[in-house]
Amino acid sequence: MSGPGRRPETTIFTTMSALAQRHGAVNLGQGFPDESGPSHIIEAAARAMRDGHNQYPPLAGIPELRRAIAAHQRHWYDLAPDPDEGVTVTAGATEALTAAILAFVDPGDEVIALEPSYDSYKAAVAMAGGTLVPVRLDAPEGAQGHWRLDPARLAAAVSDRTRLLLVNSPHNPTGTVLDREELGAIAALAVERDLIAVTDEVYEHLVFDGREHVPLATLPGMWDRTVTIGSAGKTFSVTGWKIGWATGPAELVARVKDVKQWLSFASGTPFQYGITEALASGDGFYREYAAGYQERRDVMVAGLAAIGFDVHEPEGTYFVTAGIAPFGHEDGLRFCLELPERCGVVAVPTQVFYLDQAPRAEVRFAFCKRLDVIEEGLKRLRAGL
Ligand code: PMP
Ligand code: GLN
Repeated sequence: MSGPGRRPETTIFTTMSALAQRHGAVNLGQGFPDESGPSHIIEAAARAMRDGHNQYPPLAGIPELRRAIAAHQRHWYDLAPDPDEGVTVTAGATEALTAAILAFVDPGDEVIALEPSYDSYKAAVAMAGGTLVPVRLDAPEGAQGHWRLDPARLAAAVSDRTRLLLVNSPHNPTGTVLDREELGAIAALAVERDLIAVTDEVYEHLVFDGREHVPLATLPGMWDRTVTIGSAGKTFSVTGWKIGWATGPAELVARVKDVKQWLSFASGTPFQYGITEALASGDGFYREYAAGYQERRDVMVAGLAAIGFDVHEPEGTYFVTAGIAPFGHEDGLRFCLELPERCGVVAVPTQVFYLDQAPRAEVRFAFCKRLDVIEEGLKRLRAGL
């Protein structure tokens, strides 16, 4: 933000994808898959268009999709949002996050988020007139280590002005999947300090090595105070459809809807039909999806490590963070701005996910790309660095 929430700066994803186009670079920056989702899902959206579903959907989304989202939450997590009052479809998770933040945050309020944190949080909190209070994750030690949350640091960040806990797991950009202990500490704090939680679970089905994704809303005392946000974009490889959702208790979801009506009102009618079909996928689809990405993660992690990056293996998501100090670089932003011309590859500097934006010797690579594209990216990095 360059002003008090009025003139948002350009996102790093726009900047880096433009550079990728200009240099014909392999885009391992912006997180979008280079393959479309399953063809029967695409066909369901096309059919909906041909069948005349081309006008506004209801504000909260078509009833079929709301029922499918509620069934998904029940099937995977034993959560039971009411399909009519406890689910709202949104223009991607981005709109759900922004609407929730605007709904619950008043000027002067503080919002706690894990740091590094996805860049739209800072913008949305600023739009609400609030202050983002980052709680840094501890950086991993060694390749097998993972970024972890220190519960004491989290507790110390809460003040009398704290209104909201913004929790993202699986976590972008680190790939960390919060475990039950970390989530338990967050839940205990939310209950003790009477805070609302908004959880960003867009990578819920992208967890590796047999880990489980645990929604914060499933923990004791959390259902009544949590808005859970998901997105079809990642799970079904249709990021351009921008179909996301917020689920939770009716009172909280009603407040998200109150704001949403002044943002998009509603969007994507035919895509909503497509995602209704997508959510009917059996468990096997989700298992194959995670297994496919685990394979790509392994190729990416091994490839980057062999080139000399200081790699931290992600537990989930389709991102990997990599230290660039071994190449004599201190500033990830400079490194990423030079990389397209130097190597024909695009990455994203992780410093943009920090409030202070201070130089960090670290970048993020996305591996939501075909294996041959990942291999080509690695080949170029090997040759150019
Ligand atoms: N949250 C996180 C952590 C993300 O990485 C993204 C996008 N990749 C979003 C939210 C936005 O999701 P959507 O594209 O559904 O708006
Ligand atoms: N969430 C995606 C990422 O982290 C990018 C989304 C966007 O371009 N705004 O790469």
